[in-house]
Amino acid sequence: MRVRGRESLSWRMMEAAEKAGAPHSAMVELTWRCPLRCRHCYLPAAERARREEPAELGTGELRRVFDEMAELGVLYLTLSGGEICRRPDLPELVAHARRNSFDVRLFTSGALVTPPLAAELARRGVARAEISLYGREETHDRITGVPGSYGRSLAGARLLKANGIAVTIKAPLMNLNIPDYPFLVRLAEEEGFLYGFDPTVVPRDDGDKTPTAFRCSDEVLGKVFRDPRLRVSVQGDRPEDHDTPTPLCEAGRSYVALGPNGDVYPCLQWRAVLGNVRRNALKDIWNSEEARRRRAMTRADYAVCNACDLLAYCPRCTGVAEREDGDFLGPSAAACRLARLNRDVLVGRSRSGAERPAAEAHPL
Ligand code: SF4
Ligand code: SF4
Repeated sequence: MRVRGRESLSWRMMEAAEKAGAPHSAMVELTWRCPLRCRHCYLPAAERARREEPAELGTGELRRVFDEMAELGVLYLTLSGGEICRRPDLPELVAHARRNSFDVRLFTSGALVTPPLAAELARRGVARAEISLYGREETHDRITGVPGSYGRSLAGARLLKANGIAVTIKAPLMNLNIPDYPFLVRLAEEEGFLYGFDPTVVPRDDGDKTPTAFRCSDEVLGKVFRDPRLRVSVQGDRPEDHDTPTPLCEAGRSYVALGPNGDVYPCLQWRAVLGNVRRNALKDIWNSEEARRRRAMTRADYAVCNACDLLAYCPRCTGVAEREDGDFLGPSAAACRLARLNRDVLVGRSRSGAERPAAEAHPL
């Protein structure tokens, strides 16, 4: 997550959260168990092998954590996995989140959503669900490694929507599925879903770079970025939207994340363990020396990015910079590439279709 301009809601919320020294958004991985075996999955092989036996937080522990989040000031809660529908207590957890007045969003494959579960989740107050659909049936099933998973995910998306939950279908843009993105756009329009695509294919959490082999070429992504139906990677569609760029991100500042075992991170993309809610209260972890040290970073600490002329177009992720390039304060090679593409497309678009020449040399 990155901020846009000073007038944007996310910017103002980040400022308010920083003044209050509190997070407004939380993302909680309920489980790493999952029926799918997606080729680009960010979970390390060791965790994927242990999927069926994680020491997950129980219902009571999560209820306590939600109460602590509310005390800290959290307003937005995303429940993610693994596959969250593997948790039989999912409706109960949603209900408790709503008792704390959180706006609740679910990340799910949709493959395990049944009619009773969809109705129950809606009744308990889920506002939004984001469902991973990677392309046509054959493409999707090839990526998940599970025949029939496309049909089950689409059925799950339809059930959630039929119960009044806003559904977004989303996909990373990879060389495994790129020809299928127009199909997904059409499907979303026909079904009444929102849609979103992400070109940032990241290494696994342990640094295993296998998924980066699925990144698309510059040529292919350049064409996709020019598709007016898509807003991929960009944080606005006019250069003037980028008036106050900053390399600072919300991780650990207005944003907090939890893994299934209770580990607390600045962000799920930035797995620097700050503590564990089984040993300490969330408030104490949030106010620990380590968490404060990371929050104390200023724009000046990101020396290269802060001075970069592509910053306004850059989808840099602090966690990915550390995982792939070894320094959370430094440039991210993957983001540099996308920033160049974004700039060329957005500036070209603002000049009535006149495309810019190729970008000049850049730090990475
Ligand atoms: S670590 Fe990455 S995903 Fe997380 S808030 Fe920062 S930029 Fe966004
Ligand atoms: S383009 Fe590269 S150097 Fe520039 S802000 Fe993005 S990550 Fe940093």
